[in-house]
Amino acid sequence: MVSTPLNPLFVDKSRIRAEIRTLQPQIVEWRRSLHQKPELGFREFLTSDFVAQKLQEWGIPHETGIAETGILATINGASPGRVFAIRADMDALPIQEENDVPYKSQHDGVMHACGHDGHTAIALATAYYLSRHRDDFAGTVKIIFQPAEEGLGGAEPMIQAGVLEDPDVEAIVGLHLWNVLPLGTVGVRTGALMAAVECFDLTIHGKGGHGAIPQQTIDSVVVGSQIVNALQTIVARNVNPIDSAVVTVGEFHAGTAHNVIADTAHLTGTVRYFNPTYKEYFSQRMEQLIKGICEAHGATYEFKYWELYPPVINDEAIADLVRSVAENIVESPLGVVPECQTMGGEDMSFFLQEVPGCYFFLGAANAAKGLAYPHHHPRFDFDETALTMGVEIFVRCIENFCR
Ligand SMILES: [Zn+2]
Ligand SMILES: [Zn+2]
Repeated sequence: MVSTPLNPLFVDKSRIRAEIRTLQPQIVEWRRSLHQKPELGFREFLTSDFVAQKLQEWGIPHETGIAETGILATINGASPGRVFAIRADMDALPIQEENDVPYKSQHDGVMHACGHDGHTAIALATAYYLSRHRDDFAGTVKIIFQPAEEGLGGAEPMIQAGVLEDPDVEAIVGLHLWNVLPLGTVGVRTGALMAAVECFDLTIHGKGGHGAIPQQTIDSVVVGSQIVNALQTIVARNVNPIDSAVVTVGEFHAGTAHNVIADTAHLTGTVRYFNPTYKEYFSQRMEQLIKGICEAHGATYEFKYWELYPPVINDEAIADLVRSVAENIVESPLGVVPECQTMGGEDMSFFLQEVPGCYFFLGAANAAKGLAYPHHHPRFDFDETALTMGVEIFVRCIENFCR
């Protein structure tokens, strides 16, 4: 975790080109408009209309209604060439905003608490800038506005709808505004950036009875407790210690009274790991342990396990491109850092499974301005100075790749 205090003046010293910087007031305005009308996954209708209306205004060809609310904008350079894609997510979260700001959410119980309003604004500004500088790149840039990143997985249906094809995308880049890193810092690395997200749901069926007569029962609390302990041995004793992984039991519900032995116990949890070779490993090993413990006690079980998102794996060449571009722009004391891995997940991973690309973190926290609450917090907000940095990194990546 990086916590070095930041010189608030450094952004003014950064080498963001003047023209992109002049877009800052508009980008902030777009971001705040989007922030006021947050919408949940696959229901980003106002958001999608906002994006489409801007693209229309600027004469940028685009397709709407992909995977419900997704949009694909296409911008051709001055001459034929390579095909590059930018991906931005548009959805908000079921959180009641507690910020007291003029652009506060107007939708009860829904809030842009992850920064996807900023991602959409950055992608819009990138589209605008490119459409006015077609002579600066060859080939085609596709801007993918994706619905439903927060758990519902909007990336897959966008890919199935063909956004990466015709013309075929050769590289893809996306970013996350990141309050774990201070403003002016960029987190980028080759290989795994974010973890695979998998989930499980376990019901243990014992035999209920009197709390004082255990010999007539099969105690689902005791069986469940042994399972919780045993599951910890997967990371401790089965996973290669060089690889990071998490097994978390998040829920354990059982019992109704102090003198009743619980008939059933219900557990849920999540598994995270970076190394894709562990795909399917955790579900198998978990079931082995659950089965053995249940059998030993005469209990039965129902075990459901599903893979939500694969790990976010960055391509070496495209990560190098993002890094070199970012190093040219960022002049903060921290600069561009590889120490930014997180066990959080992202469905950008589905795009990265299809084409080489890079997902990176754009530092956006500014504690001095009170903008350092964590993502998904009711008071989350970020330093909007980061918005133009995002546009600049995207534009420079495109100009480098599409030459
Ligand atoms: Zn989020
Ligand atoms: Zn997010």
